[in-house]
Amino acid sequence: MEETRRYMVPSRFKAIEIKGEVCDGCNRCVDICPMDVLAPNPEKGTPPVVTYPEECWFCGSCVDRCPKKDKRAIRVIIPLPMRVSVVRGPRP
Ligand code: SF4
Ligand code: SF4
Repeated sequence: MEETRRYMVPSRFKAIEIKGEVCDGCNRCVDICPMDVLAPNPEKGTPPVVTYPEECWFCGSCVDRCPKKDKRAIRVIIPLPMRVSVVRGPRP
């Protein structure tokens, strides 16, 4: 767990989690992100740094693009209020 946290800039908002033990630092997620949430790590071959988590749109492109997504190298953490949907009327 400690390994995972190392690659985040301290923020109260956590949008992206990268597993340092799985990620090889290919930076495909950095290239695809439309909001520049991620930045290449100055140390080559190591996971990108989550620089602006507050800017994340939760589009999931970074996860889709990751060649190690099956090992959950990168994960989008959708805030709880965004996961709740309101159903009006009788439930089906
Ligand atoms: S979910 Fe979308 S906006 Fe957020 S870091 Fe990934 S690519 Fe960027
Ligand atoms: S695309 Fe996946 S393996 Fe490549 S840097 Fe991003 S998280 Fe790491």
